[in-house]
Amino acid sequence: MRDKIVAGNWKMNNDLAQTEDLLAKIKSLRSEKAGVRVIVAPSFTNLWHAFESLRETSVEVAAQNMNENENGAFTGEVSASMLTSVGVKSVILGHSERRAIYKETDELLAKKVDAAFNNDMEVIFCCGEELEDRKSENHYEVVKSQLEKGLFHISSDAWKNVVIAYEPVWAIGTGETASPEQAQEMHAFIRKTISEKFGAEIANDVSILYGGSVKPANAEEIFAKEDVDGGLIGGASLKAEDFLAIVAAI
Ligand code: 13P
Repeated sequence: MRDKIVAGNWKMNNDLAQTEDLLAKIKSLRSEKAGVRVIVAPSFTNLWHAFESLRETSVEVAAQNMNENENGAFTGEVSASMLTSVGVKSVILGHSERRAIYKETDELLAKKVDAAFNNDMEVIFCCGEELEDRKSENHYEVVKSQLEKGLFHISSDAWKNVVIAYEPVWAIGTGETASPEQAQEMHAFIRKTISEKFGAEIANDVSILYGGSVKPANAEEIFAKEDVDGGLIGGASLKAEDFLAIVAAI
């Protein structure tokens, strides 16, 4: 059985005081829900604080990115072992903002994936097409290629540490959500693609999250779809009430 997961990607938001405030609200308002993993991904500077603050809860902490090297002369970068040393066990890789703004390629992402596994970390691997790709009906090919080039070199055994997040770029921060049917179609396609290469058992056990303008008002109908196992939430994860309403919708 695959996990249901709701993860909040805070992006470059929240200084230390704001992080303390948001975590305190999440802790006080949250009621445990069996079978649902809840993850928050603050900025690097707040990861240790978040880990400490959430220690007594089941809320997990993820990083939003990391470097592909173990250590060394890479000014400004953060390694997997630095993340695990502050309690972080999961990392978001391949977010469309990293791909588009910081020019992260599939080849680089493959190396980051390896670095994460070498450090026993879980990878939340993002994929998703741009509006042009969808208009030209190229969206399945784009997502398949992202998966094949960035992720499909891993061993069958490594899949237990993989979560996929499908985030159509045109739906991120735009207020425009993929319809539940569009999300389901792509999630089913992703599962089929994994199944063809790694087998049905692995494909059925992978959690596939949807991301892109998920809000309390639309979460329930998206999460109701068979192959949608939760969400990767941007803007709405910055308000505890909204984030927890989305968690409750699963
Ligand atoms: P929004 O929920 O703000 O559209 O962002 C989605 C996202 O990019 C999560 O990683």
